[in-house]
Amino acid sequence: MLRITQRSRSLAYKLRARVVVRQPPATRPFHQSIVTNMAEKSKSDSEWRAILSREQFRVLREKGTEAPGTGKYEHHNGEGVYTCAGCGTPLYKSTTKFNSGCGWPAFFDALPGAVTRHEDRSMFMTRTEITCTACGGHLGHVFKGEGFDTPTDERHCVNSISLNFDDN
Ligand SMILES: [Zn+2]
Repeated sequence: MLRITQRSRSLAYKLRARVVVRQPPATRPFHQSIVTNMAEKSKSDSEWRAILSREQFRVLREKGTEAPGTGKYEHHNGEGVYTCAGCGTPLYKSTTKFNSGCGWPAFFDALPGAVTRHEDRSMFMTRTEITCTACGGHLGHVFKGEGFDTPTDERHCVNSISLNFDDN
């Protein structure tokens, strides 16, 4: 009897701990979230594997790419904020999303400081990789000067699986 009580107490504690960890990133302003979530950068691969799906791990932590036209946010509309699927940091406002026809969600701008750019020389070309500033998770690539009728003429080509959507 005592053992059961102790176990259920510890389970309740775990559940509470999980709620506490998950809620702050979505409710804090994005610049605070970046600072708060910087600790995520020190997570080990096994820690990431424990919280991400296999496909999320492949894309976010191993810089993979989801197949074009397969992601759930390519044609997703609605007002809100797209957050990092790894750490919950807000990355893109829905008002910067546009239809590029490329097969992945496209945004013409990120929230200030939320996304970091890196030169990527893989696949026999030079591209600009974008990662979540807070946790380092791979998001996709950014392309400039393609002629899209947007305020920046940039296309942040982001894997759906690297994102979650928050309509609050
Ligand atoms: Zn992140």
